[in-house]
Amino acid sequence: MSTVLQLSNVVKSYGDAVALDGIDLFLPDDSYVSLLGPSGAGKTTLLRVIAGFETPERGAIRFAGRDIGGVAPYEREIGFVFQNFALFPHLTVEKNIAFGLENRKNNPVTDPQIVRRKARDMIALVGLTGLEERAVTQISGGQKQRVALARTLVTDPKMVLLDEPLGALDANLRMRMRSELRSIRERCGVTFLHVTGSETEALAMGDTVLVLDGRKIAQQGDSDTVYNHPVSPAVARFLNCYNIFSGVIEGLVFKTAAGVFPVGATVQPCAQKAYAIRYDRIAIRPAGTPAGEGEIAFEGAFLASEYTGSAITSFFTLDDGKVFEVETHLSHAAPESYEPHGRYSLIWKKDDAIVYA
Ligand code: ADP
Ligand code: MG
Repeated sequence: MSTVLQLSNVVKSYGDAVALDGIDLFLPDDSYVSLLGPSGAGKTTLLRVIAGFETPERGAIRFAGRDIGGVAPYEREIGFVFQNFALFPHLTVEKNIAFGLENRKNNPVTDPQIVRRKARDMIALVGLTGLEERAVTQISGGQKQRVALARTLVTDPKMVLLDEPLGALDANLRMRMRSELRSIRERCGVTFLHVTGSETEALAMGDTVLVLDGRKIAQQGDSDTVYNHPVSPAVARFLNCYNIFSGVIEGLVFKTAAGVFPVGATVQPCAQKAYAIRYDRIAIRPAGTPAGEGEIAFEGAFLASEYTGSAITSFFTLDDGKVFEVETHLSHAAPESYEPHGRYSLIWKKDDAIVYA
């Protein structure tokens, strides 16, 4: 697959504060890319640098085969969907979508017939047919999101940047818009770079997932690889599905405050030392159940459970006070109930853990 966008060693500071510290990334053409990072990680800054609203101090940006470092934002052919939609409240759905086409600096469309046709095509593409004349103050959050997207797509960008596009929507709608966004992207065939603070959203939506940590790209890969093989404890922490212990490796064991774990097959070279075991790789057994061949058994006291629909997350406290999470999928098993404060044996395969050393 060819590369549409490549950043090499991009650095951007605000005064003394470094927001992006040597960003290297490449985005495949015609794909959905998600960028995951916590609040303040520099996600918006990165999008603004790519769009040309901010000038980096260092580094190169190549887009569609050329260096765009000195190219004005409106000449980059990169669309931007802002976090809060930024619609014109006094205009209708159709006029909001047509606005960019009629008023862009480069090659504005002046023929009202053509404007109307393009706007209506876009309205159909994003599923807003019938709402053309509606004021944007009188449509739902999901519909506003579609208007914001249509307004960008109508200008025929070669790539679209979306800054937390689902953040303003309620949970139900957010789930539906995930697949909508993916299918709209497939229909227009350009790369979407979708920024989010939600690990589930990033993994569910991205063909490629980028993780922003410490002002750098910590990992880039397909969602399966990122989920199953996070390259650092920090990435594992963002994914919000690993119990992570800090400690040191000594020969064949990993020593933590909670105890000592035999090291299995997966040792990931990393500057930060940690031991990570996924929430859904752990079995809960009566206290005293011994570890089998290749297994680790650890005792904890049950705290509480939380249902998430298809799964249940159970929280335990270990003897050093650390909270340990176990996720059990409910498709086959009926939910077990555990005794409050009761002690249980928590068992996992040592080869399922990732040791960062
Ligand atoms: P995110 O979108 O991931 O939440 P941002 O890119 O908005 O992160 O911010 C990254 C860092 O840069 C933060 O520490 C933020 O305070 C700082 N920052 C962002 N925009 C500005 C600005 N215009 N002036 C000064 N600092 C800024
Ligand atoms: Mg932001």
